Amino acid sequence: MPTPSFRKTGVISLEELSTLNLLPPESRLKKGPVAVLECPEMIPCNICVPYCPTKAIKMEKLIDLPMVDWNKCTGCSVCVAVCPGLAAFVVDLSKEDGDYVTVPHEFLPAPKVGDEVTLLSRTGEKLGRGTVTRVWERNKTYVVTVKVPKGLGMEVRAIWVEK
Ligand code: SF4
Ligand code: SF4
Repeated sequence: MPTPSFRKTGVISLEELSTLNLLPPESRLKKGPVAVLECPEMIPCNICVPYCPTKAIKMEKLIDLPMVDWNKCTGCSVCVAVCPGLAAFVVDLSKEDGDYVTVPHEFLPAPKVGDEVTLLSRTGEKLGRGTVTRVWERNKTYVVTVKVPKGLGMEVRAIWVEK
């Protein structure tokens, strides 16, 4: 079996996430906020499992990939706050006025609701501008929801807050 490209580049693609069953189906994505755990390596971590308030994340063994029951996931974003690998996101593609993406953010300055921020892809490429709509914090990790242009919800995975 060929080495997956994320092992060489450190950046996972949507195709690879789909192959690993880490992407919600289109039908669920259209219903409202849902977690996307971009966690493709068999590492000894399961912190998201006990923290999920609806028990939507399952792992048989510590090194398994985290499998989300998309119907149990409410998009609460607790997994975004607790994931030490900054690999958990919540996307909401159900709105008409734009897509909404919730990302972990561990840089200062702290984002504030209403801030206009630069949107970044998985590779750090600039994708445009978005507006912060929600911020909460846990143990110095900011959990930031941004409204992004329609169509970018599965591409934006970080933000840059200019000073
Ligand atoms: S968003 Fe909330 S409900 Fe969904 S998997 Fe994460 S912690 Fe569980
Ligand atoms: S907490 Fe993050 S790194 Fe750990 S299993 Fe869950 S998604 Fe993967």
